[in-house]
Amino acid sequence: MSDPVVVVGGGVVGLSVAYYLASAGVPVEVVERSALGSGASWGNAGWVCLSHSAPVPAPGVARFALRSLGKPDSPLYLRPPLDSSFAVWLWRMWRSSTRAGFRRGYEAVTALNAPTFELFDELAAAGVETTLQRPGMVHAFLSVAEARHHLEVQRSMAPGNYAMPSDVTLGSSAVSLDPALSGRIQAAYLVEGEGVVDPVQLVGSLAQAVKNAGGQVRENVAVSGFSGGSRVQVVHTSEGDLRCSGVVVAAGMWSTELLTALGVRLSMQAGKGYSFTVDLDPAPRHALYFGDRRVVASPMNGATRIAGTMELSGNNRNLDWRRVVAIARASRHYLGPWFDDPDDLPLRIRDPWVGGRPFLADGLPVIDRTPRHDNVFVATGHGMLGVTLGPATGKALAEYFVSGRRPNVLDPFRFR
Ligand SMILES: Cc1cc2nc3c(=O)[nH]c(=O)nc-3n(C[C@H](O)[C@H](O)[C@H](O)COP(=O)(O)OP(=O)(O)OC[C@H]3O[C@@H](n4cnc5c(N)ncnc54)[C@H](O)[C@@H]3O)c2cc1C
Repeated sequence: MSDPVVVVGGGVVGLSVAYYLASAGVPVEVVERSALGSGASWGNAGWVCLSHSAPVPAPGVARFALRSLGKPDSPLYLRPPLDSSFAVWLWRMWRSSTRAGFRRGYEAVTALNAPTFELFDELAAAGVETTLQRPGMVHAFLSVAEARHHLEVQRSMAPGNYAMPSDVTLGSSAVSLDPALSGRIQAAYLVEGEGVVDPVQLVGSLAQAVKNAGGQVRENVAVSGFSGGSRVQVVHTSEGDLRCSGVVVAAGMWSTELLTALGVRLSMQAGKGYSFTVDLDPAPRHALYFGDRRVVASPMNGATRIAGTMELSGNNRNLDWRRVVAIARASRHYLGPWFDDPDDLPLRIRDPWVGGRPFLADGLPVIDRTPRHDNVFVATGHGMLGVTLGPATGKALAEYFVSGRRPNVLDPFRFR
């Protein structure tokens, strides 16, 4: 048998790529330096959705970020590290935040995302326990004007891609869209069919499927370097050298370091987000988006996962408790007073977590062969959408790998 393709990173993206490669008969070995899913794929909100797929760099976003300086309760919080690469990245994000760039990015992601639910169905039919439920997503607002604005934007991007309601629902009818919503909601709307998974279970099921298809999955093995020039032949790991016929770097926000070892530049920042789990009665039945505050809640295994914030404070996973409190406080407007005092939160919530969404400055992933190598591919930078786009990324990249021809849908996700 030929040497395996080594997939670096056992998150949702790496395991999706490995699954589709293994299913195409390619020998694969996933190498994960910690536990599977222990990166951004762990405590995320688990949304699988079509209607929330716009790139983060949008007109006005950089100004919004600058206004958040020194305000840790802001949904987008900027605490610049003393690092020139951060300043360059921020400058590039600002340059990408044009109307035309946003539209182009949105269209590219929409095209990649188009088969997502079909792919999840195919995974389930192949025996992969994806845990996908499709209860729909309720967008809830404290301001009618904000709700109408949000719906109008989403409707303008939706045609032909997904069904949107024609108007918002007001007052008590809005509140009745989900049992967990509080009476303070002024307007809401339901986007039907949107889904939620348990991301940890999804990762575990994908790993099992890789093994069932003949691949290997190794945890607690860190990749430290590569040898072989333009055709990488050896991957150096903490457990010794691995011969390989190809490499896929899918190491989330840590991909930059691995690519540097390959002589390839990729500038990324962690868009840090937080989550925690709480028992609410009644628990939400839908994925909930609290539009004015940009906080979300997902039904997960009978409990509720509340998540949010985008914090740009360097490539680290330092947990700032003030951000957890800010999310909890914001959620009370929508879910009712589920805690009395922030000091009670450590007793009330479980699994406070911070994860680094891997972000390029233009908000789009890179799913491509590196410019310097014949047999090294990269799949990273999925930002807020790695769970949603994992299967579509895996399928398209595996096709590229096997055929040697880049599928058109991957054109916008070239190295840049
Ligand atoms: C609060 C929050 C909520 C989110 N909600 C959603 C959502 O609802 N829906 C959605 O689609 N997305 C969501 N996301 C985004 C999603 O979590 C990410 O896009 C996705 O998890 C990225 O997956 P990944 O596989 O690229 O990276 P990761 O999951 O970070 O995986 C990379 C892996 O590489 C490993 N690794 C790194 N370096 C090495 C090395 N040298 N050797 C070996 N292994 C290495 C790491 O240990 C890690 O496990 C959310 C993110 C956050 C933070």
